[in-house]
Amino acid sequence: MQDIINNLPKLAKDKHNDNKKFFAKLKKKPPKNLDYVMQELHEEEFKRTDCLECANCCKTTGPLFTDKDIERIAKSFKLKPQQFIEQYLRIDEDNDYVLQSVPCVFLGADNYCSIYDVRPKACREFPHTDRKKFQQISNLTLKNVAICPAAFNIVEEMKKRIKV
Ligand code: SF4
Ligand code: SF4
Repeated sequence: MQDIINNLPKLAKDKHNDNKKFFAKLKKKPPKNLDYVMQELHEEEFKRTDCLECANCCKTTGPLFTDKDIERIAKSFKLKPQQFIEQYLRIDEDNDYVLQSVPCVFLGADNYCSIYDVRPKACREFPHTDRKKFQQISNLTLKNVAICPAAFNIVEEMKKRIKV
């Protein structure tokens, strides 16, 4: 898996123009069954992919934390939200709360998440490939294919299955 992760930025760069064109066309005329196809592609890919062998999202990017995420996670540590913020978070250029540093401080050496049950919504949903109206998050997906091997494979499969 590590070899795949190491090669991913280059592979994604090679596909970038293709992907950009594909998503531009998809956005103009998304097929009626797009949500259904994405759900299928997402499920098929994650049957093959073991995130515990990867954890590249947790190692390289980290999520943004909503107010609800902060309240829930702080409570699990028996901290006040403000104490949790001071200890673990910072505000980024988009004014969102994000981790002070990556790899994520909650990621274990065995790739397990120590706050899995209360983890941020963004972690639960990453790489968002089963999201409804997937064409609306194409810019995010263009970035995610360089981080997430599953997202990369899903987009490659998508281009084969959906004729735009
Ligand atoms: S979601 Fe993607 S980047 Fe994150 S661990 Fe799973 S395969 Fe790796
Ligand atoms: S909170 Fe857990 S799932 Fe989210 S980035 Fe950190 S280790 Fe990964």
